[in-house]
Amino acid sequence: MSLDILHADIDSFFASVEQIEHPSYRNQPVIVGADPMNGNGRGVVSTASYEARKFGIRSAMPISKAFSICPNGIFVKPDMSLYSHYSERVMNIFKKYSPSVEQISIDEAFIDVSGVSKLFGDAVSIAQKIRDDVKKETSLTVSVGIASNKACAKIASDINKPDGLTVCPLGMERDFISDLDITRLWGVGKKYADKLRNIGINTIGEIANRRCEEIVSMFGSNGFRIWMLSNGIDGDSVSESDEIKSISKEYTFQEDTDSAELLTSTIRSMADYVTRDARRHLLRYKTVSIKLRFSDFTTITRSETLSEYSDDYITAKKSAEKLLRANASFRKIRLIGLSISNFSDDVQNTLFEDTEKRFKTDLLIDKLKLKYGEKIGRCGV
Ligand SMILES: [Mg+2]
Repeated sequence: MSLDILHADIDSFFASVEQIEHPSYRNQPVIVGADPMNGNGRGVVSTASYEARKFGIRSAMPISKAFSICPNGIFVKPDMSLYSHYSERVMNIFKKYSPSVEQISIDEAFIDVSGVSKLFGDAVSIAQKIRDDVKKETSLTVSVGIASNKACAKIASDINKPDGLTVCPLGMERDFISDLDITRLWGVGKKYADKLRNIGINTIGEIANRRCEEIVSMFGSNGFRIWMLSNGIDGDSVSESDEIKSISKEYTFQEDTDSAELLTSTIRSMADYVTRDARRHLLRYKTVSIKLRFSDFTTITRSETLSEYSDDYITAKKSAEKLLRANASFRKIRLIGLSISNFSDDVQNTLFEDTEKRFKTDLLIDKLKLKYGEKIGRCGV
């Protein structure tokens, strides 16, 4: 065991990109998310700049609440293609320092630096080099946690945000995390946290002090992992291959809708977005799922697993439209989502020439879109 796992996380990523692109936004509270519509907007905050966080604005907060707290803030709609571009630049810097980079979201990745110390020095110097390079090349700041395992590195990167570098000392994993709140533990969300607080567990150390069986009886197989993590033990290795489990997109309508036209055009643009993302990662999907939240907040997800792997837009679009027709049932819809999953990263799996051609066409369209913006259309779809 040695200190060679880094978790690197870009600070307030979307908001920081906006501040870099728009100098007048700097040092201002910037809130990236849904349109606040003068306080009547729906949907949530995606990212708040640190200046906005001083007002108490947080990710996932309703945008209407953010607006009431900070009506003079700068509210910006997300520009995903711009953020993807920045993300790629940052990930490429990570990859300069190690062949083993596992990207877990648009703005964070694990980097295994075991085996590159002869080239770049110990984990701390590599982390500092990465942080310097990112700042110099993109103006973004990155917080890095260093530990002997992924779970502790992820916790460490979050401790001194923004622009932090935090080491979880070797052999001290259990003590390092024990006083922290349970929600800092990877995999403990609000639901699990509520259950744990109900039995008087508030810190990670208090999980570790319980018997493993007790935690397993509460959460099943997840319980074992949570108990192990609470003891600072994580055997998961950094791997590129299982980096992405699904690619999804959701949208909350400004007003609940049953317009077939609006629903269809929305699901089509989502199919375009998610399949484009899949192709960029050279992933082929086999399952298409839609999520519908009705005006009474009941939510359903419906999936279709295809007979073969696919990478293209049309297949996802057709499947999603079919699921939508079968499940919309004339009720008004508040939120719609689409995801593709069940990936194979074996691109060589392209069996038919016509699939190959379509793949190339889609890739070409992606490139054109990057160059000329979103207005490039697809004929006949
Ligand atoms: Mg981040």
